[in-house]
Formats: sequence, C-alpha cells, structure tokens
Amino acid sequence: MGYKFLKLASISVRPGSFRIGVRGYATTHDADLVVIGAGPGGYVAAIKAAQLGMKVYSVEKDPTLGGTCLNVGCIPSKALLHNTHLYHQAAHDFKHRGIEVGNVSFDFKKMMEYKANSVKALTGGIAMLFQKNKVNLLKGVGSIVAPNKVEVKGASGTDTVNAKNILIATGSEVTPFPGVTFDEKTIVSSTGALSLATVPKSMLVIGAGVIGLELGSVYQRLGADVTAVEFLTTIGGVGIDGEVAKTLQKILDKQGMKFKLGTKVMSVKNEGGGVSVEVEAAKGGNKETLKCDVVLISVGRRPYTKDLGLDKVGIALDDRGRVPVNEKFQTKVPGIYAIGDCIHGPMLAHKAEDEGIVCVEGIKGMPVHFNYDCIPSVIYTFPEVGWVGKSEEDLKKEGKAYKVGKFPFLANSRAKTNGEPDGFVKVLSDKATDVILGTHIIGPGGGELINEAVLAQEYGAAAEDVARVCHAHPTCSEALREANLAAYCGKPINF
Ligand SMILES: Cc1cc2nc3c(=O)[nH]c(=O)nc-3n(C[C@H](O)[C@H](O)[C@H](O)COP(=O)(O)OP(=O)(O)OC[C@H]3O[C@@H](n4cnc5c(N)ncnc54)[C@H](O)[C@@H]3O)c2cc1C
Repeated sequence: MGYKFLKLASISVRPGSFRIGVRGYATTHDADLVVIGAGPGGYVAAIKAAQLGMKVYSVEKDPTLGGTCLNVGCIPSKALLHNTHLYHQAAHDFKHRGIEVGNVSFDFKKMMEYKANSVKALTGGIAMLFQKNKVNLLKGVGSIVAPNKVEVKGASGTDTVNAKNILIATGSEVTPFPGVTFDEKTIVSSTGALSLATVPKSMLVIGAGVIGLELGSVYQRLGADVTAVEFLTTIGGVGIDGEVAKTLQKILDKQGMKFKLGTKVMSVKNEGGGVSVEVEAAKGGNKETLKCDVVLISVGRRPYTKDLGLDKVGIALDDRGRVPVNEKFQTKVPGIYAIGDCIHGPMLAHKAEDEGIVCVEGIKGMPVHFNYDCIPSVIYTFPEVGWVGKSEEDLKKEGKAYKVGKFPFLANSRAKTNGEPDGFVKVLSDKATDVILGTHIIGPGGGELINEAVLAQEYGAAAEDVARVCHAHPTCSEALREANLAAYCGKPINF
C-alpha cells in the first residue's frame, strides 16, 4: 500500500493508520471502490477499475487470489482433464496412429503436483497484476458495516475502508447434500475430488452436470469404474441442447462411464473402507444399494454471502440466496453493487469477469450492457461440448419458428484426418430473418470453436453471414461454417 511507517516509541504510525503493540492494528483507508472477493469477478473488476483511474482496494479472505475458479474450479479441473486425456491417448490411441511408446503408465502424485503448480502460477500472476495496476490488497474477511464502509478482519488486525463504492463479488460454495458430511476423502465435493490421494477403484458421481461429467471423466480415464447418478433423464446440466446431451451420453458411455438417469439418491453412508449409496427411481419404486470407494457429490453450488453484513445495510437475499441487483448491478443501496456467482445468472467465471468489467465502467458513468443470451457454456470432456444461445427445447417452448443447420465432424476433413470424427455442429436460426438464435457443438475443440459462434451471435449475425466468411482449410471450424450454410440455404457442401 506504499505507506511509510513512522516509529513513535512502541507505536508505529502510518498516515491514516495506527498500530498498537502486538495485539494487532487498525488502519483506515479512503477508496473510490472496495471489491470484496478476489475471484474472477472481483479481481478483474478491481484491475479494470484501477485502469479507469479509481483508487481501489481488493479484499480477499483466502490465502491465495483467484477464488473458486483458480483454486478449486476451472483451472485445477482443466489441468487434470488435459493430462488425463493425454495419458488416455498415449495408452489407448497412439498405437493405431503408428506411435510406439511402450508400456504407458501414469504417476498420479506428479499429475497432482502439475495441477498444483498450474494453480500456483496463475494465482501468483494475479498478485503481480494487482501490483502492476496499483490495486491495493487487503487480506481478511470483509464485511459491510455501513453503506460506504467495509471492515476487513485479517490475521494482524482490522482495516476499515471508507469507499465511495462497494462491489460484492463473494462468489459461491458447494451446495451441501442433506444428511451427508463431506470428509473430502471418501465422500467428496468437487474440491476433494481435485485432490484425492489415489485413484479409486470405483467412483459414484451424484449429479451428471458439467462438474460431475468433467471430474468423472478424469478418474474414468485413469481406470476408475465410474457411474453417474442423475435425478433428471438427461446429462449435461441446464441449457444443454437435448440432442447434444444424448450424443454426449452415448460417447461417454462408449468410453466406459456408466449412467443411472432418472434416479434419486436416498442416502449416502460411509461404511469405513467404502461408501454405500441407496438410490431409487425418481418416479418412485425400484430401490437399489450401490457400493463404491469414493462418492463425488456434485449437485451444484450456492451463492456465498456469509459474514458480509448485508443485514446491516438492509439488503435482503432473494429466494435462492442471491444478492438482488438491477441491470447495472446496483443493489437497493446506492453505491453498493454485486456481480458473479452471488447474483442471478449462470455460475461461470467468464460471466463473472464480464459483469465485473461493465459494472465498474457503469460506476465511471459509462454505458452498461450485458447480453445474457450470449454467454457460452462448455463441458471440457472429450469431445468437448460448447453452446451459446437457445436450444431446440427453448425454441419449442417459446413457440418460435426456427431452422436447423447441422454438420457432422465425420464429414469435416480436419476432424476426420485427426481421427476425431465424433460429434456435430448444430445452428438454430430464425426462420423468417435467418438471424442465429443458438449454436451447439459437440466435437474436437468445441470449447474453442464456440467462441466464433458467440462473436457472430453477439453481433446479431445471420447464418448466411457466417456461411459467407472465408474459413481456413483444413480446420474444424469449417464445420461451423457448413452448419451455418445448412441453416441458411438447407445444403452444406461437404455432406
Ligand atoms: C470444479 C469446478 C470447475 C469449474 N469449471 C469452470 C469452467 O471450466 N469454466 C467456468 O467458467 N466456470 C467454472 N467453474 C465456476 C467458476 O469457478 C465460478 O463461476 C467463478 O469462480 C465465479 O467467480 P466469482 O468471482 O463470482 O466467485 P468466486 O470465484 O467464488 O470468488 C469469490 C471470492 O470471494 C472471497 N470471499 C467471499 N466472501 C468474502 C468476504 N466476506 N471477505 C473476503 N473475501 C471473501 C472468496 O474467498 C473467493 O476467493 C467451475 C467451478 C468448479 C467448482
């Protein structure tokens, strides 16, 4: 924070602060903005605000920056997904490509170390970005004590920030499962699943949404017998197109993952040396007891607002525990804003980041515009699934007349040559205007490819617009172009 300490006998004083003996210190700061929480929403907002010339304080209670995403979410899960995919390729796929690597084995401890190093590098990177952009960091639990005042209780005392604006970016936490205690060794949440000591022989995944499928894939690739139990009759979570979900299930099933859909979990019991899980058909009847070494409970996340002091400023949470905000991310209290997982909308890192940017631009008097129809979703299985906009189910529900353009990766020269022909691209466009309403991809690099579709949709493109854009050959993105061609004129060239 760049303050110089002035030594006064046993008391060290710095401008606007005082430190008393060994019992800790109290410090006051003035700020244009204080951001509570340094996850992807909060840290990005803090940097953007500093870049816009504000004096910013970022408050974080955890030892490292980056929140759920960097510490126990996006980043560690992708490190494990990438390396287990490489292992699986080497063990099961290389030979028929003419690549001889002898006996392939893996070192699980090293894989975990690799994951930890990725996390360390990226969380440390945020600290450097804070320094570079002159964002002041306060380590401790932040709570709002008055409309323009945040108290931060840290290891060595309490800081008070008098701020013109307060941004709540406190994120989310694992949703508990009724009657179950996570020991994070045999009954684990996603956090425990990212740090298991060994690969279990068998794993039961409760909840076949994005996180369950990704972490289930990690352990299935390493040899665990993985069964996913899901209350709904489809996999992939909210917003996935039904046809894509079915295709994904078929592909994962072929890879060895088992599914019990339309099934509800009645109890989870740790029996010492294993877990027993009682399930029954969601519609009732057909009870069964399943045994496994480890059970991963991935039934969702809920907003985290503990210790925030919202009651002190009269902010009540909505029925789902979220902080209510308007389209400018303003709460009902002037000068207090909220973004990310703790407000409405999908719980995604890129959504939190983008909200953070437009929110602080709004504080600076710039226009605030956020298009919730253009937030992509990705499932980082193999193949990857990516989608944006409406699914066929959404459009049917809305009674909207639409066209479908589909193109299989089997007919895409690059995917075929790479030996990765599973999946397709599906474009849904307005029947009358040809404007793209949704794009759904299951196939190689689907998580990268979807961003071209997001760009098109954000700019209000018609399917013809994308179909007429020259795409490099041979690339998997040509499948996206062909699907748009199919949506626009009914006829792709290569299928
Ligand atoms: C296993 C897993 C995989 C995921 N994979 C992806 C993915 O691939 N892509 C994707 O987009 N999303 C993914 N997510 C979701 C993503 O991590 C979240 O959507 C994202 O982190 C939300 O960002 P946020 O800034 O709103 O909150 P968070 O990342 O939760 O950060 C909130 C921060 O606030 C701090 N905090 C809370 N209260 C206080 C307080 N009172 N004082 C001080 N600090 C406080 C917390 O310690 C935390 O650091 C994944 C999540 C999980 C669990």
